[in-house]
Amino acid sequence: MTLQRSEHTRTVKAMEMDVESQRQLTSLILHEVAGISALEAAIAAEDSPGYVVLFQDAKVDKQANIEQLATLIRMAGSVPSESAAFRQLVQKSQARLAEKVGGTAAALRTMRVSAKELLKSYGTAMSSGRGLVRTALEKAHGRTTVQVQTLTAHIAKLTSNAREAAGLPRALPEYFAGPEAKVCFRCHFDRPGTRQALELSGDRPYTYICAGCHDDAVNEFRPDLAAQMERWTQQAREARAIQHAIGRASKLTAAHTVIRKLCGLPETPPMALPTKPLVSPLPPPAPSPAETRGVIHADSSDPGDAEYVKLLFNPDRVRNSW
Ligand SMILES: [Zn+2]
Repeated sequence: MTLQRSEHTRTVKAMEMDVESQRQLTSLILHEVAGISALEAAIAAEDSPGYVVLFQDAKVDKQANIEQLATLIRMAGSVPSESAAFRQLVQKSQARLAEKVGGTAAALRTMRVSAKELLKSYGTAMSSGRGLVRTALEKAHGRTTVQVQTLTAHIAKLTSNAREAAGLPRALPEYFAGPEAKVCFRCHFDRPGTRQALELSGDRPYTYICAGCHDDAVNEFRPDLAAQMERWTQQAREARAIQHAIGRASKLTAAHTVIRKLCGLPETPPMALPTKPLVSPLPPPAPSPAETRGVIHADSSDPGDAEYVKLLFNPDRVRNSW
């Protein structure tokens, strides 16, 4: 108990969160909550399944930011405030209205205004944050940068606006290989690749995997699976690639690598699981001279049996063949 309390005191001391920092973090949380609300409104009004996936994944990122910031506030002994009702309402109605009046591009622009504002606030908070606070803010700043750049790429493609495209870290064809703005369910763009893009529709739930992610998914297959692939039908190969590409592990890899790269951030590949070292069992230790010796009596009248019993219970022989 004493240990726990001193640990807690140490952690809180390490946080050194003043009232101003707490206010700053709370304001960031409220902004993120309002953003989620706006995304929900946009999801409800959106017809394209690709953009629904894009908005849903953006929501997951915002939830991760909120959890991280709320944890920091709780670690410093406070409770995050929850009164963003007015702001939520405003952003929600803005996103819904934008979607209704101007379609997807207008909704994306509205979201970008909010994301850029948030990015600025994260930048300001980062400059004064230290230790754990700074690390958490940097992560949230990174996720928000990805949101801004992703929205910009889609706005540039949907509106064919050269000025928007010029603001991107890379050339537009690196984000979109085809003539339309499509949303890959893995990377949120429509990247070029050596294989063809995969699209499911009709009676199956709509799914789109871009050519780049098709390549990545096949390259991520385990070697034994990759060896079997040549014997499968094309349909089976494609179904397997789609299933792999929309799996959590592969999406996470994309988020840490290709998506960050396209958004002008350094790649942070997820760490490989550490390999377990092979541990050989150690031989039993030699008895210390002070060790008390146990005596087992196995009396035998036969001399051959007596010799066998003597060898069987000889501790040195037992240790040698352990
Ligand atoms: Zn993709």
